[in-house]
Amino acid sequence: MRLLSLKLRSYARVLLRGVILSCVLVLPDQASGELPDYSGYRVMDTAFTRIFFPENNALLRFNRNLKLGRVDQLINWGALKSTDPSHAVAAKVDALFRRVEDILDMRPEGMRTTLMIASDRQEFRRIYRKMYRSETELIAFFSPARNVIVIDATEVTANVLAHEMAHAVIHAYYGNASTPGKVHEILAQYVDLHLHD
Ligand SMILES: [Zn+2]
Repeated sequence: MRLLSLKLRSYARVLLRGVILSCVLVLPDQASGELPDYSGYRVMDTAFTRIFFPENNALLRFNRNLKLGRVDQLINWGALKSTDPSHAVAAKVDALFRRVEDILDMRPEGMRTTLMIASDRQEFRRIYRKMYRSETELIAFFSPARNVIVIDATEVTANVLAHEMAHAVIHAYYGNASTPGKVHEILAQYVDLHLHD
């Protein structure tokens, strides 16, 4: 299994902008482990995603940590103020997705991806271990083979999630043709850098 990492130079640039991305990677199609196990998870659908989350607290944590900054302007304020966190999460996730598609200028038809929210570090690592049969220091990843973004709710930021969404959009846009890993990373980093322009 090959892992592609952000280049140090990009790290420095991102850090200079005051955003800490401890680690975001794309895992190419050679996923050798098992499918993510969604049993016992709750599920909700948004325009672009099917979101699985283990319990309401995980969704609350995800919602609290996902601050979109200027991208918030694209969201219906009623959804953000709703007492049901799933409304805010759906609105933010879809707004972020649209923003990512706009930055990339890629709008694959019927774009859908799965977003699996892990409650915490421990659960995130357990999911990763099951899928890839190895340990990880990541906080989020996209599996092209499974069309799923997995993210740790305690570490989610708009930039980290947008980066992974970019991988999902790029993968869908180019279809099943294997996009070179470097192209994937460069384009996903471009989304990171311009998210709040
Ligand atoms: Zn990446």
